[in-house]
Amino acid sequence: VAPPPVIHYNLNNVTISANPVQNKENVLILTPMARFYQGYWDNLLQLTYPHELITLGFILPKNKEGNAATTELQKQIAKTQKSGPEKDRFKSIIILRQDFDPPLPSQDEGERHKMQNQRGRRAAMAKARNSLLFTTLGPSTSWVLWLDADIVETPRTLIQDLARHDKPLTAPNCFQRYYNTDSKKMDERPYDFNNWQDSPTAQEIASKMGPDDILLEGYAELATYRALMAYMYKEGEDIHQEVPLDGVGGTALLVKADVHRDGAMFPAFSFYHLIETEGFAKMAKRLGWQATGLPNYKVYHYNE
Ligand code: GDP
Ligand code: MN
Repeated sequence: VAPPPVIHYNLNNVTISANPVQNKENVLILTPMARFYQGYWDNLLQLTYPHELITLGFILPKNKEGNAATTELQKQIAKTQKSGPEKDRFKSIIILRQDFDPPLPSQDEGERHKMQNQRGRRAAMAKARNSLLFTTLGPSTSWVLWLDADIVETPRTLIQDLARHDKPLTAPNCFQRYYNTDSKKMDERPYDFNNWQDSPTAQEIASKMGPDDILLEGYAELATYRALMAYMYKEGEDIHQEVPLDGVGGTALLVKADVHRDGAMFPAFSFYHLIETEGFAKMAKRLGWQATGLPNYKVYHYNE
């Protein structure tokens, strides 16, 4: 039997450009998924980036909820990849089940966001993201789009719109629709507070922390006075306005694959007193890659 052929990839031939469609650049969409939302899948299907250039990667926890989500996800995948229209079909799809224990207990939005629950959650999420990234990033991947499983609404041109900025890390602004009981109308509010610009106060707090302590954003108990992109949205202004960011969230984030190939990942430990996606932005920066935010470019998180 002949030995398998050696496959050569010249990374210099893989472009990562502002015109990814023209250059036929491969995009890896990575989603950690605790619950399956039909809105996420429907939104994914309507993305106009050529699906034959998109690989999907999922990681789901090994618990009851994760099992249910996996079943639902596989059902939708079968529909799209086998019986659905050809143009909807993705290049390939990879599903991982989390292999570390214990899985996070399932928590509702309020419980998840309690400060004392955050450290463990964020560390587990970091490991899940790293497992997903390191098992799926390929030699021909140009872009990685991190997209949480509860992002249910984005512009159809999301990938092209973010890539057009040609930045190492590009974060849109994540909002949430809700029913406003005062105005008795549907309304929207900022959701992802992990996209921020650093402040002297946060630096000061961090300088007095122990080596393993982490700074969290969005908690009144720990006022950091960082400038949050969530509050920089201005109605009617240019959706392509850019701001520099020091911390990023993972709800939706486009990353040049070279940033990850250089070694930037999601620390599950205190890295400059930052963890997970915020630690990732810091690590990217230490490697020479600056994060950019688009305060007026909105995507929407599911409302539980
Ligand atoms: P939040 O919106 O910041 O409160 O965070 P989420 O709980 O929505 O988690 C972020 C993303 O990770 C979502 O896509 C979740 O479905 C997913 N997720 C949450 N917990 C786990 C977990 O234990 N394992 C995996 N693999 N994914 C998870
Ligand atoms: Mn979420």
